[in-house]
Amino acid sequence: MAHVVDSLICRDYGYAWRAGWRWVLWYARYRRFLAALRTVWYTLILGHIGEACRECGRPYLHWWAADDLYASATGKGRRSNGEAAPGLYCLECFDRKALAQGIKLRWIPERWTP
Ligand SMILES: [Zn+2]
Repeated sequence: MAHVVDSLICRDYGYAWRAGWRWVLWYARYRRFLAALRTVWYTLILGHIGEACRECGRPYLHWWAADDLYASATGKGRRSNGEAAPGLYCLECFDRKALAQGIKLRWIPERWTP
């Protein structure tokens, strides 16, 4: 089961202008040119500095999935040092990755209290 736990856009134009170009170039390096263009829009135009999907470049709601589900959908498990698996995906891209592995997801809104 996955959980949505936070908001979408986090603005800081100064930081976005200093760091945003690196994020654009990261997508371009992996030949994700549409994601690179989205990152130009979201970071350099809108000032978004929050999380962005490593697949499509869109900002997304923060969410959580159990390690076994995440590993099954993405092929990436927790690192040997105990850190969470690499990769941040939006809900749509995670859904698509899960479906490609034959996993159907159901997203359930849930109250979150830190
Ligand atoms: Zn995505």
